Parts: sequence; C-alpha cells; structure tokens
Amino acid sequence: MEELRKMPKHFPMSERAPVEPDNPAIVRYSSACFHCGNCKWSCLDQTGLLERYTLESTGDRAICLYCGQCVNECPGAAMSERLHYPAVKAAMAEGKIAVASISPAVRTSLAEAFGLEVSFSLGQTVDLLKKLGFTYVLDTAFGADLTVMEEATELIQRMQGGGPLPLFTSCCPSWVRYAELFYPQWLPNLSGTKSPVCMQGTMIKTAFAKERQLNPEKLLTVAVTPCTAKKAEILRPEMNAAGAELGLDGIQDTDYAITVRELVRWAREAGIRFADLQDAQPDAFSGSGAGNLFGSTGGVMEAALRTAYFLLNGVNPPADFLQLEAVRGNEAVREAEVDMGVSRIRVAVLFGTREAGAWLEAQKERKESFHYVEVMTCPGGCIGGGGQPKHFIVPGLQVPEKRKALLYARDEAMPLRLSHENPELTALYQTHLGEPGGEKACRLLHVPFRSDASEELQAGK
Ligand code: SF4
Repeated sequence: MEELRKMPKHFPMSERAPVEPDNPAIVRYSSACFHCGNCKWSCLDQTGLLERYTLESTGDRAICLYCGQCVNECPGAAMSERLHYPAVKAAMAEGKIAVASISPAVRTSLAEAFGLEVSFSLGQTVDLLKKLGFTYVLDTAFGADLTVMEEATELIQRMQGGGPLPLFTSCCPSWVRYAELFYPQWLPNLSGTKSPVCMQGTMIKTAFAKERQLNPEKLLTVAVTPCTAKKAEILRPEMNAAGAELGLDGIQDTDYAITVRELVRWAREAGIRFADLQDAQPDAFSGSGAGNLFGSTGGVMEAALRTAYFLLNGVNPPADFLQLEAVRGNEAVREAEVDMGVSRIRVAVLFGTREAGAWLEAQKERKESFHYVEVMTCPGGCIGGGGQPKHFIVPGLQVPEKRKALLYARDEAMPLRLSHENPELTALYQTHLGEPGGEKACRLLHVPFRSDASEELQAGK
C-alpha cells in the first residue's frame, strides 16, 4: 500500500506531457493515448514549458499554461478541451438568459470546423448561436475595442513616466501564466488591462443588463473562443468585477468559454449544418476593424497603436498606418520602430512562450529599450488557438495563413477601423465608464497579476 502511494501519478515527461485530472482547461483520456509523444513536443517546442520544470520539483504536480496546443497536436482522441457546452445547455434549460460573445478568430474557422473551405463566417456564427437558443449574440471585437482604449491609454501614461516600459500585452492568458510562473520580475510591465473576453463579461453583466433591464443574476455569459486557456482565465478570482460592482456575491463575469470545436459538436448534436445558417447580425456590441485584428499575431499591437496615435496627436493616423506592415508577418519574433507622429517608438511582436522566454532572457544583454511588446502563445496568434479546428483536418491548406488573411480583409473592408471611433464604445464611456483609464474604468476593466504563481514550481522541495 505504501509503495502504491509513492508511485508517480504521471508518465515521465520524456514520454508525454503530464496533465492533472483537475486541469480546468485540458483533459486527457488515458485509455485513448497511444504514447506518440506529440503533446510532449508541442509543450517543448512551442510553449517551452517542459524544459522549465520537473515533476520532482513540483511534488509530482503537472504545470500547464492551458493553451491547448497539445490538443491540436494529438492525432487521436486522447486530448481534449474540458467541455463547457453541456453545462451551458443545462443552464439554458433551467431558464438562464444566455448571452454569447464571438471572439475575432472564431469568425475565420467556423466553416472549417464543419469540414468546409476556410471562409469568413461571423454572420453564420451569430445565426448558429441563435438557433442553439442564445437570447443575445454579441461580438467580442467590441471587447477588443475596449481593451484598445484602455491599453493605448496605459501605454501613453507609461511613456509619460507613469510606469515601467516596455508595456507587455496581457490579453493572452497563457502568456500571463507563463510570466507569472517564470518571470514574476516582469509582472509590473504587464498591462493591467483585461482581455476582450473578460471585459465583455463585465460589461454584459453591468451596462448591457442595465440598458436591457435584465437581472444580472439570471444572465449566462458564454465566450465563444478559439482558446482553451479562456476556460481557466474566466475562473480567476479577480474576474468578478460585475459582482463586486453590483454587490452580488459569487457571480463570475463570464460563466463559460466554449471552443469552435465544441460549438460545432453541439451544432451536429442539434442536427444543424453549415448550409442551414444565414448571415445574421450581432444584437449589440459590434466591433471595429481594429477589434477584428485581435485574432492575429501583431493584431493587438496594430489596433492599439492606431488609437495611441490618435491620443498622442489629437488626429487620426495617416492611411498607411492602417496597414502597419512593420508589425505584420509570420516570424515568431518581429521588432520594429514605429513613427507615432510626435515620437518614434520601439516595439516587438512575439508568439510562442518559448520564443518569448528567449527574447526576455536576451534583453539582459541588450542596450536597446522597447516601449510596447505583444506576446501571444499560439502559432500565428489566436487564429492558431488550441480550440480551433485541428490543422491536419484539411491538409495542405495553409490554414492559419488563410484565417489571418480573412481578418485583415475584414478590417480593410470596414468603414469603422479605429476602436476610439466605435459609436457603441464612446456611448458606453459616456453613460457607464467615464474616462478611459479613469477610476471606474480601472475598477471594472483592469486586474492585477499573481506574483506567487512561481511557488507552484517549488511545491515539491
Ligand atoms: Fe488563447 Fe490566443 Fe493566447 Fe492562444 S494566443 S492561448 S488562443 S489568447
């Protein structure tokens, strides 16, 4: 018996990536695992996580960034996101008023998840969610516009002496967790601005509920995302700003996060095919072209710099600034200097936490300083998220590239390309939030990050 107690919980990390049974985002079905090791390689090559700790040091506890790249790389059915859609269905059956919000990258992958050619499908996603019983369907590109307003304001405040530089983006929860675990010294540099998904949840249970005269306690907020890590992010204790604001204990800003794969699984159970779907419009919270860019690597930075330019100069950026090639591209590390009108700034765009870690280490020796750094975990950004259709479903399609092209084309085609000109957003600040970066906006839309997470790495010592 004593020997059994001492047996390790996990197979060696040289064989496969360990996953805890209580992981909030990822599930392993061991009986379906044939030990190919793909999960290990994704957790080594993309996240760099497996080279950063040992099971001996953590007391046999697996560490996870929740990014889901192991799920994407698993050729069988052994790895999955933790499914939320059955709980969403149950809550809807109990009479909750269900409000879905669609993340930018989802509109690039719904058709593909149905096994069809990649196409832009925001309208079809809205229609599908309505057919599945959601009362309201909103666009998380609106939450992205809010993130832009707050983060661009924060960038300028820091450039004027109000905090350390560079400012790192923080809308990727896997990157935030990586920084909390391995680079706590950099946490003051992470933007305190919440991610679009989390902002959207706060705003739905406060401003949207008030405007539509809905009981926030009856609302069920569901993020439809490309991202498995959102399942963990929405559970963070600080993501309860609406409850704190309204004096309601125990309500989360966002109740569930379902991936594109889950959404299509639910649709198939309901007998809905892609061909059944119409081009419908979100009920409210529409996003700008800038907000749509959040789905791609470099997109958060490009969107935020448009608004930062306006805030710095008092006029909108010139036309070529709306196609900011300096921050676009496919390389995992891109550095550039950007002309912001009144000044020039140094920026970097990174994806893959392994690359981000190497970049951070290299800064110790470098003389250059940076103002603004975007970090995403998944390849190509959220378009390559761990909840997206698996790449090998349609081999040879260069899928992430096609998904990305759809977002940039959408931005170019929209008359509204600047977050700060989004009329719903400016109305929200007037009626509900006050000034960007102001006291109420900070209370509802900003969070601190954990400096004690690195203790998890030493739990076995
Ligand atoms: Fe989620 Fe996007 Fe980060 Fe991937 S890059 S973990 S999809 S937020």
